[in-house]
Amino acid sequence: MTRFEDLSNELEMLGRAGRLRQLVARRLEATSIDDGHGKTLVNFGSNDYLGYATEPVVDSSAAIGSSASALVTGWSDRHEQLAQNLATFESTQAAVLFPSGYAACSGAVATLARPGDLIISDALNHASLIDGCRLSAAKRIVYPHGDVNFVEDTLRDHRGQFNRVWLLTESVFSMDGDIAPLVDLCEVAEKYGAELMVDEAHATGVLGPTGSGVCEALGIRHRVAVRIGTMSKALGAQGGFVAADQVVVDYLVNRCRSLIYSTMLSPSIVAAVTKRLQEIRDNSSRRDSLIQRITQLHVLRKAEPAKLLTPIIPILIGSCHQTLDWSARLRELGFFVPAIRPPTVPEGTSRLRISLSACHTEEQVANLCTSLQTIADDRPS
Ligand code: PMP
Repeated sequence: MTRFEDLSNELEMLGRAGRLRQLVARRLEATSIDDGHGKTLVNFGSNDYLGYATEPVVDSSAAIGSSASALVTGWSDRHEQLAQNLATFESTQAAVLFPSGYAACSGAVATLARPGDLIISDALNHASLIDGCRLSAAKRIVYPHGDVNFVEDTLRDHRGQFNRVWLLTESVFSMDGDIAPLVDLCEVAEKYGAELMVDEAHATGVLGPTGSGVCEALGIRHRVAVRIGTMSKALGAQGGFVAADQVVVDYLVNRCRSLIYSTMLSPSIVAAVTKRLQEIRDNSSRRDSLIQRITQLHVLRKAEPAKLLTPIIPILIGSCHQTLDWSARLRELGFFVPAIRPPTVPEGTSRLRISLSACHTEEQVANLCTSLQTIADDRPS
């Protein structure tokens, strides 16, 4: 066997299965993206829900590097101010920043679910939450997606054997765009003395009257002990945060390895996020435009109207190869819609994932729907 032959064999196998991934250097501008070969496409693939990601925020007084981890020299007045603003935004006693949403999710789960605890985790939770479960000393039981009865049965049978029980879920599921049954989860959590930890990555800045997320939209913020958010999606920047009681935040500051052992967020990012957060709180116009585009897409695709609208619309295809074909056809017609394949989604559920942005025009969304219909009509049923 030659050096690394095992790795190249595995890559070949991924290629045959339609699962090989490659980095493509792309140019992004508002709602356009190039296909890596100079052709400009309308971008329906980014998590830039409010269209902030490509807008420059100029604050020449903010440094690029934070110089160290938060507990050494990486925490500045700007970081402190943003953490306080986020706590106010989330209506919690405190909040703390993380270098990424991944670090916030994996670190919070790994640290807060302690030995002797149980985590009851949704089957479709994001990899960052799953990795947190893997790093945690707590026991984990995975429940079928959104199945509150399963959660309740598990609590009824096992609550007594554990110190603390955590119900772990995303609020808006990243690959399905659906919403967790959070009110029902709160009810069973309260009945059996469990705590909720909710990842609002795809809801921060998008849902709720002030943009704090699904928990705000449903009026249950005070019932969810730990809420995790990202600054990398609707806020158009980078980084993650955890909002919770002061004691929970103090515990993370003392014990959470992904916070303690990683260089803190860049001050220039912190300055940009502080400004964006203010804009989101003061002005709902981008959220309103996003809702208009989501509603338009649902009407054009004749989808059931949902109570809470999310900007992630999956189109289930099934096989990897077919999903890649659809994505390639859309590229030919001028649209970038990524093909999402295992292991990101379960086997046999490959899909196109449409992400909408406040900056998409009515015409862009209408043209995408026409193109999807054209491709569907061309295919044997
Ligand atoms: N949680 C969910 C649900 C996500 O989709 C993602 C990123 N795709 C993360 C956490 C991680 O966030 P970040 O990209 O900021 O690291």
